[in-house]
Amino acid sequence: MSHQQRTTTPGTELGGMFPRVFDTEYVTITRGQGHYVWDADDNRYLDAISGNQNVNIGHGREEIAAAAKEQIETLEYTSSMLFANEPAMEYTAKIAEFTPDGFEHTWLVGSGSEANESAIKMARQYHFERGDERKYKVIGRRRSYHGNTAGAMAVSGFPARKDKMEPLFQNFPKAPSATPYRCPYCDGDGGRECGIERANELERIIQDEGAESVAAFITEPVTGAANAGAYPHDGYFERVREICDEYNVLMIVDEVMAGFGRTGENFGIEHWDVTPDIITSAKGMTGGYTPVGGTMPHRRVVEVFEDLENGFQHGHTYCFNPASAAIGKAVLEYMQARDLVANSRQVGAHLHEELQRLYKYDFVGDIRGKGLMLGIEFVGDRETKAPLEDTGERFQNELFESGLDNSIITYPTGGHVDASKGDLTLLTPPLTIDEADADEIVDRMDATLADVADELGL
Ligand code: PMP
Repeated sequence: MSHQQRTTTPGTELGGMFPRVFDTEYVTITRGQGHYVWDADDNRYLDAISGNQNVNIGHGREEIAAAAKEQIETLEYTSSMLFANEPAMEYTAKIAEFTPDGFEHTWLVGSGSEANESAIKMARQYHFERGDERKYKVIGRRRSYHGNTAGAMAVSGFPARKDKMEPLFQNFPKAPSATPYRCPYCDGDGGRECGIERANELERIIQDEGAESVAAFITEPVTGAANAGAYPHDGYFERVREICDEYNVLMIVDEVMAGFGRTGENFGIEHWDVTPDIITSAKGMTGGYTPVGGTMPHRRVVEVFEDLENGFQHGHTYCFNPASAAIGKAVLEYMQARDLVANSRQVGAHLHEELQRLYKYDFVGDIRGKGLMLGIEFVGDRETKAPLEDTGERFQNELFESGLDNSIITYPTGGHVDASKGDLTLLTPPLTIDEADADEIVDRMDATLADVADELGL
């Protein structure tokens, strides 16, 4: 079976763009409305991945365009190094009501990478100012992604996205992946005991590195691109919290994807009874309507910075950008007016249940996630969990193209098994979908997987 004809443009002919890949063909997306987007031939696609897990309120919302227009006409920019601005004050005050108790401040930046870069520096300076000048290492976890800037890469455990760049940054130590599906101690059902055992691996790394050199541990609560919807056994995050307290290590949770309602709670970590030291977020904060990220330290971290004459030694031109802040505030208001976090929880549970149907395909190994942050892991052998033979580019391209044939956009990813093998897709539709939309996603995924099976002989 060959794929449907769609108008595409080669990577070499995209105006003046330096494209991600020159040697590929791109479909041009021309417009979006709700949870659909259209290409240049007017083909409609169900956006089951919210753009890039960020268009959480759907495309084309007039309310957001109006808020952006009003703010840009009033004041598009002022430097946060020199002045205060009202939209930033109002937006961050609103975020403070949305975050868990103890989180009252947001350091507003332009992306998820910048939010994590800021968190890493904040953790380092926190210890420095408290006299722990030797603490600088930030331990990450294998099969995690925290961004593409040098600091964020240094803490990411995603070889496929960083191996060529590695000499450029500190490669900080990594705790093992904590995914139940591939847990070395159990078959995925080991519960708290396994959660605690996996967290204890972090303790051994801290001891090995020397606690006096470790500033922080960074983890996604529910993993995104690096492990599609995976999250640890219960007990894991609670034990991580204890370990961080014991060794004076800050706990940073990267909620760039999971935050702002994606998992059915305001923040992913709220599925567990754990209070981190720093929360980072981005993506859904502004629903894709403008680039924004945020670093949200707990009060106990903020206190260290309150008395500093020269403050936080960090900053960007676009920190606390008024236009972005006005858009972010409008997006949060849009979410709250429609109770989209609860919708994510409810419709997510429905979608998760209906997706079980896809286990009829032998190459579906695991369907997992929370709220509307769901993922599917594909395997060559369900019993042994061995990766597919066509693992990597061939399978993932086939999945994406077959998805387009069936009018649905998927997010193929992988490389989570043995550093290069393994195949996954995220399913992260806008938080505005209802159960009928969820059923449409399942129908389209079913048809997509049938085509993939045909094409690859699975
Ligand atoms: N952390 C996580 C968990 C992410 O999913 C991403 C983006 N996929 C990032 C950080 C980096 O964010 P950005 O691409 O906005 O820099």
